[in-house]
Amino acid sequence: MKREWDLLHTPGPTPIPPSVERAMNQPMIGHRGQKCKELLKDIAPRLKPVFGTSGEVLVLTGSGTSALEAAVVNTTQPGDEVIVVVAGAFGDRFAQICETYELNVHRIDVEWGKAVTVEQVESVLQSAEEPKAVFLTHCETSTGVMHPVEKVAERVKQLSDSLVIVDGVSSIGGAKIDMDRSGIDLVVSGSQKAMMLPPGLAFVAVGDQAWEAINQNERPRFYLDLKTYNKRLSEGQTPFTPALSLLFGLDEVLRLMEEEGLEQVFERHQTMKAMTRAAAEAMNLPLLVSEEDASSTVTSIKPTTFDAEELRKTANEEFGLILAGGQKHMKGEIFRIGHMGYSRPADVLRYISILEVILKRLGHPFESGKGSAAVQEAYLNGIKELK
Ligand SMILES: *Cc1c(COP(=O)(O)O)cnc(C)c1O
Repeated sequence: MKREWDLLHTPGPTPIPPSVERAMNQPMIGHRGQKCKELLKDIAPRLKPVFGTSGEVLVLTGSGTSALEAAVVNTTQPGDEVIVVVAGAFGDRFAQICETYELNVHRIDVEWGKAVTVEQVESVLQSAEEPKAVFLTHCETSTGVMHPVEKVAERVKQLSDSLVIVDGVSSIGGAKIDMDRSGIDLVVSGSQKAMMLPPGLAFVAVGDQAWEAINQNERPRFYLDLKTYNKRLSEGQTPFTPALSLLFGLDEVLRLMEEEGLEQVFERHQTMKAMTRAAAEAMNLPLLVSEEDASSTVTSIKPTTFDAEELRKTANEEFGLILAGGQKHMKGEIFRIGHMGYSRPADVLRYISILEVILKRLGHPFESGKGSAAVQEAYLNGIKELK
């Protein structure tokens, strides 16, 4: 039996609300029956505000990467020129998918821990001949940077006909995105991060210009053909057997978000970000990302006086607090705290207090109690600002 008291604070998978777990335990239904049709028809319009769009949000069975791949294969053909922002492991994954599908890829390499600027995208866009799409990550989970995707999209749209395609796997459901207003054409996401579900569902939100590209695109595709998903959705169906239990859960996730209010959901994430960062500063823990570039769903810390892996090991073994390490060249250099989805200020108060104990043990220099004082103050200030 697994420990049931773990405090899971990785940036995905994330904890599941009890009411969502119960919803997923409902008896199985037939996927071509009336009940499934009603469920799909009920969910479809409620997903749209989460993505800030009036367009369709398609639901696929697969991990987040299947949605990234769907975005690439449906909008491009071999030889197309595309621009990919690479500022971490997930930007790199988008670029790798584009290369795998034989696109002519211009990478914009950004230092890990920094956000891309509108000017950087603008200059590559102007040097490209006929860019078909700009791919970028909303929250770069490997560093905890939130890229200014809306500003980038607005500028790209002023300068070109290029599509703007965003990986929102670790932001959607936790951070606001206004797809329609900013001109973002396509946003993909997954279920196991801020969407409070187990892994297994992938989401693809598609705007009008993206549909034009998808409908004209002759590249062969089968399981990931978005045209088929869209056609079937209009009939209250999915092309293949959907992950029904996860759909039961998604229905409840959307109900929870509606009950709290989407704006409040996003503000709660901002509060958790402010609390975590204030406590880190008070405990002399170097933050990898500047305040301006930091994500509201994940915070990275780059310790200099102790080993990040040793901290993670103690947190896990003694307290059941599960944190993430660094990826690729940042392995061992940073640790990452996920504060997204079914995560609340009460959880932040708890993990900061645990970190204080461990930091003392590791001999990290800071004044006892400073982290706890700062996290409480940040919470109280956050609440004041909201009033
Ligand atoms: C987690 C994540 C992915 C990959 O999702 P999988 O479900 O592991 O395939 C892609 N992009 C970002 C930004 C992520 O955080």
